[in-house]
Amino acid sequence: MLARSIQESPTLALNEKARILRQKGEPVINMGIGEPKNRAPITAILSSAAKLSEGDIKYTPPDGTASMKKAIIRYMEDNYQKLVAPENILVTAGAKQALFNIMYSIINPQDEVIILAPYWVSYPEIVKMVNGIPVIVTPEDGTFHPRLADIEEAVSSYTKAIIINSPNNPSGLVFSEQFIADIVEYCEQKRIFLIMDDIYHKLVFDNSIAPSVYRYTKNDIENSMIIVVNGVSKLYGMTGFRIGWVVTNKKLTNVMINVQAQTASCVSIVLQAAAEGALTGMQSVVESLRLRFENNRNVIMQELISFNNIDITKPMGTFYCLPDFRYYEKDSVKLSNLILEKALVVTVPGKEFGLEGHIRLSYAGSIKEITEGIERIKWVLDPNSPNEIYIGDRKLIRDWL
Ligand code: PMP
Repeated sequence: MLARSIQESPTLALNEKARILRQKGEPVINMGIGEPKNRAPITAILSSAAKLSEGDIKYTPPDGTASMKKAIIRYMEDNYQKLVAPENILVTAGAKQALFNIMYSIINPQDEVIILAPYWVSYPEIVKMVNGIPVIVTPEDGTFHPRLADIEEAVSSYTKAIIINSPNNPSGLVFSEQFIADIVEYCEQKRIFLIMDDIYHKLVFDNSIAPSVYRYTKNDIENSMIIVVNGVSKLYGMTGFRIGWVVTNKKLTNVMINVQAQTASCVSIVLQAAAEGALTGMQSVVESLRLRFENNRNVIMQELISFNNIDITKPMGTFYCLPDFRYYEKDSVKLSNLILEKALVVTVPGKEFGLEGHIRLSYAGSIKEITEGIERIKWVLDPNSPNEIYIGDRKLIRDWL
């Protein structure tokens, strides 16, 4: 059975492990988690509460409410300087469902989808779920940046789509303007779908911007191969509301609307109202999250630099970094388990993202969690660090190095 071959989501599984340990009273630090810790924006809360208190909670059109689409159209204008029509938009239960819906709508059995390592854990599984074949392209050792030449080499007559994600989960890298320009031109010319997962697009640091795919296409939206995925999970810290959306040409949107109508029917009207509240409310919410993550990035970089034997590429966005721990341990699953077992810090093995020897650390938590988390990892691995540590109120002594 095809579904049996689909892997458990390693990040969700780790979150669950952390939750159980914490419930037992263990002083766990979760650096595996991929969500901001803010309260939901007040405009999201008020807007969904108003909808609830109306009491008229019914189906919406499968592609989303008219007012939510209006909010997305405005978002597209404000953030991408791109004019789109309501017929170009599908509202989904998170970016994850958006990606599934896209794949289901474009892939025939045996079609190939190019995925760039390090990649978000769900891409290959989603492709497999629709009987497609994930083709992984890994950059030269030591860099996280994809190269068009490597992608071109991996393209075959079966290639249906290429997925890109910048700012990137798990590396924190923002892809170069040149690369975005080249890949857009390449996909438009070859008529390969270019799926841009833009879920982190405003979480960028040091005054940089994440280049928009729309800047580099000469085609209007109806003739373009570009598909943009977005949502409120990361920018507004609204992971639990499960709202995302897709913007693409009307023809593909129509196919996806039928898929949505025959599976989920639609996304909850209450949660669409919440997302609409976030999109139309004060955008300083996004900026304050961005600033917090930039500051956290600076703190984690500071902490990691004092680690002698790890290689770290400075993240330019998101709330993740992906240090190279191969000096200490080449098997990232073993390393993540060791760190959890000895020091109660949850991390995600790079193997899950297609890059062995690395560990993904999330800095979405508090400064205290970041500094204490890195101190604990150092204690586990680095013989130059003090061999005594307090974890919670327990004093532990390192006796394995
Ligand atoms: N794409 C990427 C790159 C992600 O990191 C995530 C969340 N971890 C998603 C999509 C899914 O986001 P959502 O909560 O909107 O489903």
